[in-house]
Amino acid sequence: MNTSPIAIAIDGPAAAGKSTIARRVAECLGFTYVDTGAMYRAFTHAVIKKGLDPKNEAQAITLIPEIEIDLLEDGRVICNDEDVTKTIREPLISGNVSYIAAMKPIRLALVEMQRAIAARHSVVMDGRDIGTYVLPDAAVKIFQTASVETRAIRRYEENLAKGIPTSLEDVKRDLRDRDYIDSHREFAPLRPAPDSILIDTSFMSIDEAVEAVLRAVKRKMGDGITC
Ligand code: C5P
Repeated sequence: MNTSPIAIAIDGPAAAGKSTIARRVAECLGFTYVDTGAMYRAFTHAVIKKGLDPKNEAQAITLIPEIEIDLLEDGRVICNDEDVTKTIREPLISGNVSYIAAMKPIRLALVEMQRAIAARHSVVMDGRDIGTYVLPDAAVKIFQTASVETRAIRRYEENLAKGIPTSLEDVKRDLRDRDYIDSHREFAPLRPAPDSILIDTSFMSIDEAVEAVLRAVKRKMGDGITC
């Protein structure tokens, strides 16, 4: 029997609902969910906490040998023994993470961790470059998007629910800025893999989006998938 791990890649712009949907799909399939954005956020948090400039590559890369990031099954994010789950969602981190994520040495270090997880476990991995760079042989590649208005409202409501103070305008500006930097960086930019399936969730509920991804997975992987 072939027991090689299976990978499902979900990429797309900021706040397209990737993590909610990827987590649900992973649960349904019994795969490990890997939130790669949380890793870039955790690195950014460590840089800022150390008093380093997140726009200065020479400074930020000095942390590469010191950083250990654990993504726990229950969704908690641990960075060097500190629980950073909540802090990494704050506007200070969201506003700086794309600068850190554009630094090639940092990407290479985090991509190595991501590939190591996918070598051991079947995964649903979400991010920006999973189908194009991290796991180019993923069995299924989804590019999930939604209009910037829809994404901004969803993220704004999520922030309110989490007690993170923001305005809708600030959220929209942050999404636009991040999408621009993420899709214009030189190394592993945000873009759909040529063999990805495009899913626009602007007018879908979470259940409908999960169903759409699962349908795509079943189409690609056949009847072995039961959920
Ligand atoms: O997914 P999330 O919005 O939390 O990601 C935060 C940031 O991390 C993105 O805006 C992007 O700059 C970076 N990122 C990346 N590549 C990934 C995942 C996230 O560059 N695979």
